[in-house]
Amino acid sequence: MPATATCHVPSVANRVILPSMQLALPLGSSDTTTPIAPLAPVAPLAPVAPFAPVAPLAPLAPISPLAPLAPIYFVRHRRARRYVLRVESDGRLRVTIPRGGSRREAEAFVQRNIDWIVRQRLRTPTERRPIEDDRALRQQARRELPTRLLELAALHGLVVSRVSVRNQRSRWGSCGHDGHICLNWRLVLMPASIRDYVLVHELMHLRRMDHSASYWRLVAEAYPDHRSARDWLRRHGASLR
Ligand SMILES: [Zn+2]
Repeated sequence: MPATATCHVPSVANRVILPSMQLALPLGSSDTTTPIAPLAPVAPLAPVAPFAPVAPLAPLAPISPLAPLAPIYFVRHRRARRYVLRVESDGRLRVTIPRGGSRREAEAFVQRNIDWIVRQRLRTPTERRPIEDDRALRQQARRELPTRLLELAALHGLVVSRVSVRNQRSRWGSCGHDGHICLNWRLVLMPASIRDYVLVHELMHLRRMDHSASYWRLVAEAYPDHRSARDWLRRHGASLR
């Protein structure tokens, strides 16, 4: 550990190679602000109903899982027989919905093919991401990343003293001993679940400033599928730069 002791997620990781990845990773919800309604009069006991399946917790932030894939647009095509994805020359993702298809199915289809989309988009990254785009993305990063970081911090009962969004070349994020977390603006180019992994990684350094087994236990508790996320970063991270 150097004297300045920043602990970072390297943007070119090469640790564990795993065959598959899980992109939708719910981190649970921590909605504690709902006002408490006054007590209603107690109704007579009804017979106990069988347990209904518990609905999954709503995601923490209203960030669509498809948001990192923007710009994206959906087209209905009566003669199409199946869902089709196409990355256009300007980088926009076109999703064709066939006759009888639904927007919801189309979105699920997009999610299942995130890897392919990312690969297509990144084949000629400099051509597809002119400087003006980078500027817009950096603004988006400054708007979204600190908010998301603080949401996740609150979820885990952690206090971040300061957040910066930077143009880092070799790391996705870093965490200093003083609780100052720096984030790479390119995190907005990633699927939301991978971005969340990086944020959780830095947040857990507020508890342990190393990469010991105890540290990874904290990460695994907060983000159970961290191996897949690290694998994603290893495979695609370099092409986001
Ligand atoms: Zn680290």
